[in-house]
Amino acid sequence: MAELRLEHIDKVYDNNVQAVFDFNLDVKDGEFIVFVGPSGCGKSTTLRMIAGLEDITAGKLILDGKDITSTPAKDRDMAMVFQNYALYGHMTIYENMAFSLTLRKENPNVIHKKVLAAAVILGLTSQLNKKPSQLSGGQRQRVAMGRSIVRNPKLFLFDEPLSNLDAKLRGATRREILLLHKRLGATMLYVTHDQTEALTLADRIVCMSMGHVQQIGTPLELYDSPANLFVASFIGLPPMNFFDVKVEKKELIGSQFRTALSDEEAEILKDYQGKTITLGVRPENIAEGGDVPVRVFSNENLGMNTLVHGHLGTSKSADDKITAKLRGWCNYKEGDVVKVSFTRKHFFDKETTNAIRKESNK
Ligand code: ADP
Repeated sequence: MAELRLEHIDKVYDNNVQAVFDFNLDVKDGEFIVFVGPSGCGKSTTLRMIAGLEDITAGKLILDGKDITSTPAKDRDMAMVFQNYALYGHMTIYENMAFSLTLRKENPNVIHKKVLAAAVILGLTSQLNKKPSQLSGGQRQRVAMGRSIVRNPKLFLFDEPLSNLDAKLRGATRREILLLHKRLGATMLYVTHDQTEALTLADRIVCMSMGHVQQIGTPLELYDSPANLFVASFIGLPPMNFFDVKVEKKELIGSQFRTALSDEEAEILKDYQGKTITLGVRPENIAEGGDVPVRVFSNENLGMNTLVHGHLGTSKSADDKITAKLRGWCNYKEGDVVKVSFTRKHFFDKETTNAIRKESNK
């Protein structure tokens, strides 16, 4: 069992930099939580406070009902996997994995059982007699995880564990971490600046900006119903397009296009009649055929899809740039005009930057 609760946690560093503001989260037993956000938003600070490597300035940290806010790191029963998986070069993989247990003077039979069990889970059984230098980067990362697994900690904490790996290995290791989570059923907290890792790994994502939690939810919730402009622009690749548009009856009027609203969309925007809002459209929610003219400046074929970059209408302004992910293989040339439509629209209040949704009108 490992349920973790963060209650109103703040972190102010000695130089008066406040890195984390009023962080609240309930982590359920066995959950995979990913903290995501740009560099400097306070993800690692939060993870390090959970691990006990940084003091908590204000608030409470509760593990399985017990207040551990001031408990030293070594007594927290958590294992942290870093991006620098520094293994001991002179030791075998077996010895590396056994290290913490040997240090604790565990019974050698128990150590042997635990190391073998971890090696099976990680697919490292044939590597145990080798030295780290004989292993690939991905295998070394697995050994680092093995060192944590043998300790059977209550919580696994990962701080950007894949950032030293190349793109292909990152994908493969990501899938291994998912498998590992399934097999162990352990509670895991994982920090990354990479939205793809967040979407693919998390049961729930905590999206942060400048020390503040912006949204907590499942990957689908953050992708499909981003709470505000920040989450909408951070989650999704290529990023969402944004345009200023005026709401007029059952239409949105932009500087270069008009587009009709469905009954449901008009209902959501009923309090915004005559006002300017921010319209958000994901590149994958743009289809050929429609009322919105796009003048193409580049056409990138990805195989299954084509990324078409252009400007709306006759505009050359950066505010009117648009990226569409169109189905199949397109062959547009610079200067071509494609008429498109928006198959899914997101609306944001210009002042608060919060999403305008059905419930926000209630
Ligand atoms: P992230 O993990 O999201 O990249 P961090 O948690 O490392 O962000 O940092 C959050 C903020 O706290 C940043 O402004 C960073 O400069 C600051 N910070 C991090 N560590 C320290 C420290 N030891 N002393 C002072 N400020 C720090």
